[in-house]
Amino acid sequence: MTDIFKGSFTQQEPLPDASIAAALSVMQSGRLHRYNVADGEVGEVARLEVEFAARMGAKYCLAVASGGYALSCALRAAGAGPKDAVLTNAFTLAPVPGAIANIGARPEFVEVSADLVIDLDDLGQRIKETGARFLMLSHMRGHICDMGRLMQICSAANVTVIEDCAHTMGARWAGTLSGRFGRVACYSTQTYKHVNSGEGGLIVSDDADLMARAILLSGSYMLYERHLAAPPAEVFARLRLETPNCSGRMDNLRAAILRPQLADLDRQIARWNRRYRVVEEGLSGAPGLRLIARPAEEEFVGSSIQFCLPEFSADQIRALLAATAARGVELKWFGAPEPVAFTSRYDSWTYAPARSMAQTDRVLDGLMDMRLPLTFDLADCALIARIIRAEVTRISALSGAF
Ligand SMILES: *Cc1c(COP(=O)(O)O)cnc(C)c1O
Repeated sequence: MTDIFKGSFTQQEPLPDASIAAALSVMQSGRLHRYNVADGEVGEVARLEVEFAARMGAKYCLAVASGGYALSCALRAAGAGPKDAVLTNAFTLAPVPGAIANIGARPEFVEVSADLVIDLDDLGQRIKETGARFLMLSHMRGHICDMGRLMQICSAANVTVIEDCAHTMGARWAGTLSGRFGRVACYSTQTYKHVNSGEGGLIVSDDADLMARAILLSGSYMLYERHLAAPPAEVFARLRLETPNCSGRMDNLRAAILRPQLADLDRQIARWNRRYRVVEEGLSGAPGLRLIARPAEEEFVGSSIQFCLPEFSADQIRALLAATAARGVELKWFGAPEPVAFTSRYDSWTYAPARSMAQTDRVLDGLMDMRLPLTFDLADCALIARIIRAEVTRISALSGAF
């Protein structure tokens, strides 16, 4: 009998009861705008910022409308502007180069390693070639590079690091939370990330000027004193008139939904990682399939899993995608020539300067990706791994036929 998987790769869990109750209470109050508070009331967004800053061990936090908005706002607040070169990973998602383009800056891509992190030798090289003063470091699909070495390279070259932690909320490198290495870090609270408010983003930093600029940029209508995880008023006084208002605020409804989820994040991470390990174990040793090594320093969040099929031809990969899809398993392929759904590759972003990247091409050509929503149980994960393993084994044996 052929196993078929019936679950949905895009179905997240329902929101916790505490989120639903908090949302109802905000809706009953009618005060959804973050600055619309009753006398003496602290709004949900301000509370969320205090709690997230505390959780991340950061001085300041700002909640915004999306992860992509957080990235462009943080980049601009860090001092990047039109025409500046901003380095970023060639293996990332469209909102990252999009955030760079959004401030009129120029994305310059850095090669990816076989373990799906930024190639640190190429980074050093690219800093020299482009003269870039900013790196938007994307911890794409939760893979974290050697952060000690990365920070050394960037500090030595005076490059400001903006961390894109869309897939590493709650992850760590060598004991330090992802997002606490660079000058500023950005998170997404969009449905497919680690907490779910539909859309949303968070920025954390210890840099007072940067955060005051970010708050003013996000559209504070000079009500910045209602922020609690914010720098002192004198910092705003210096910057308030020279910083444009580019509205991208979070509202109280989404903040209310997020606060109980944040409180539960560690438990969710443990659940993701149990699922990840079951799939990893189930795929381990399949012919022609390379799993991504996870370094001991990395405490990741296994909300998705990647593997490589370095010897597979494009036709074999297409056959695998069709065969697994027919059995209910939705794999994504980063080697497809055209962007599909959430996958796209650096050479499809034609607004960025073209660069040929042989190493990245080799990695992406065989790179498969799969979400692991928490609506899957461990038996689902084992079944999914069995299906992938069977089809990879079958198709790799057919290699002569392609
Ligand atoms: C989702 C995501 C973002 C931010 O996306 P939004 O949809 O704007 O919240 C940024 N970087 C990566 C790598 C992402 O996957």
